Amino acid sequence: MNIHETDVLVIGGGAAGMWAALAARQEGCRVLLVSKTPLGISTCTYLSGGMFSVPTESNPPERHRERTLQTGKGINDPKLVQILSEEAADRVRELERLGIPGKWEKEGFYCLGKPPAWGAPLALGLAQACKHQGVLNLPWVVINRLGLEGGEVSGALAWDYREGKPMAFEAKATILATGGGGALYERHDNPLQMTGDGYVLAFHAGCRLRDMEFVQFLPPGLAEPGKPSMVIAPTLCDYGKVVNSLGEDIPEKYRLTARPLAVRSRDAFSLAIFQEEQNGREVFLDLRSLTEDRWPRDNMAQTQRGILTRQLRCQERPIRISPVCHHFMGGVAIDRDGRTEVPGLFAAGEVAGGVHGANRMGGNALSETAVFGYRAGKAAALKAKEEKRKGPSAAIHQGLKEFEKSLLLQEGEISFLEMKVALGKILWEKAGILRNGPGLKKALEEIYQLREERLPKLQVQNPREVLGRMEIENGLWVGEMIVRCALFREESRGAHFREDFPKSDDSKWKGNLFLQKSPEGMRLEFRPLD
Ligand SMILES: Cc1cc2nc3c(=O)[nH]c(=O)nc-3n(C[C@H](O)[C@H](O)[C@H](O)COP(=O)(O)OP(=O)(O)OC[C@H]3O[C@@H](n4cnc5c(N)ncnc54)[C@H](O)[C@@H]3O)c2cc1C
Repeated sequence: MNIHETDVLVIGGGAAGMWAALAARQEGCRVLLVSKTPLGISTCTYLSGGMFSVPTESNPPERHRERTLQTGKGINDPKLVQILSEEAADRVRELERLGIPGKWEKEGFYCLGKPPAWGAPLALGLAQACKHQGVLNLPWVVINRLGLEGGEVSGALAWDYREGKPMAFEAKATILATGGGGALYERHDNPLQMTGDGYVLAFHAGCRLRDMEFVQFLPPGLAEPGKPSMVIAPTLCDYGKVVNSLGEDIPEKYRLTARPLAVRSRDAFSLAIFQEEQNGREVFLDLRSLTEDRWPRDNMAQTQRGILTRQLRCQERPIRISPVCHHFMGGVAIDRDGRTEVPGLFAAGEVAGGVHGANRMGGNALSETAVFGYRAGKAAALKAKEEKRKGPSAAIHQGLKEFEKSLLLQEGEISFLEMKVALGKILWEKAGILRNGPGLKKALEEIYQLREERLPKLQVQNPREVLGRMEIENGLWVGEMIVRCALFREESRGAHFREDFPKSDDSKWKGNLFLQKSPEGMRLEFRPLD
């Protein structure tokens, strides 16, 4: 049987997974990191802007903490935010020691990558460190189930989609670092693999998830006809003018005052653009009056100048922008060391929830991967050292046999891509930037229809299509989570905007929505904050 044994199993090869792997290795554990693609590559980390929001001399931890809570509309987990503000700078200095090139600015640290993958030096630098430190890596492998032994996670079942082979992992501690699910939406800036698998793995293992209704859209996505969707450096929105096709100034019209606009007001700014579009007006970033000497100094804006001026001719005409799905704020509930509520299972990075509340401040996701990836790695190593379980895990051995049987090929009439497009449209139109009760109910019906009527007709003829089936099954679960939570929260807050409940209502809704698997499907529980 194809079973690998390790102390700590890390699922996911982005920044959170690699930080966790390095921290567990420092404690002397054997670490195996499994990822859908080669270490660091095709991750959100790789494609990111490489910007870390980190306390600095001019941005002390207290201010960073306050701004993170304000941006999150007060429903972040304050303990996690406190840790983020206290520890982010130390972690970033470790990146510098690893030789990852970067530059300190007033609000944090910018990794010195180039467009369209400013995060590449970060992802590749961490991957290099993992190799040097003896972290074993298996790429092209997708984890599809977690094994549970006596209520504890004892490893995972997986599919090698290049070789077409099932496999299993026995581990004393397992860390989920699978990132988010942005690629489930019709318009997004994520790598295609980001289908929210980790939320579903945790859900089926019995974990609670929190705040799944909060999905972030990034306002300045390039929307020029015939051009690839690309993120425009957020700072440019403060230096140029954002106007609609009538020439109206968008920040003024919608009273968007927090600056930097696309860093601290991603929610309201995305909503404003979306509303303009709904009313038949396009939105543009006008950089024509921005001279070279006034161009923002941050790395993202500086390195994008050539593309914007030469290829998009931004000095001659305004360029069209439109929001893209960018980040999931919600995720698996964790404690300060990344422990989930199921023993043996840890989570870090975008798959985990709590740090960002209802809206994420730009730059805080990468800081989160470093701070909580590191913490989860240390805690998982401790757990692995204390683990008393002896001999092979029956859950994994038995589970692998059953898993093999579930990997059947099938003749069908619908491709994985068609299913993904259909789900993406439902989420974009009914559970995206602008939501309402009837639309969300319809979205739920349509998701059930896809699952019950179309999924059995899926074409699954090769190992890649087996992966496709796994991803779409996960996507349907994640879609259901978002829709159910969005329907439950009858107010608007941060990235969750309900047309039928357009105001925030602290008296009823200042708190968190937890979701857990139950015999009837999903159980939702709202917990007000003290
Ligand atoms: C275009 C873009 C720009 C951004 N810019 C910034 C920025 O400047 N600053 C900032 O703070 N944040 C930014 N973000 C957000 C930030 O990049 C992400 O939140 C962060 O990188 C997530 O890191 P992660 O390690 O949790 O996940 P990822 O880096 O996405 O890695 C997830 C890993 O999990 C693997 N995986 C997933 N499912 C499975 C499975 N079932 N089995 C095995 N492996 C699996 C994937 O293959 C991948 O290796 C940006 C995001 C995007 C998309």
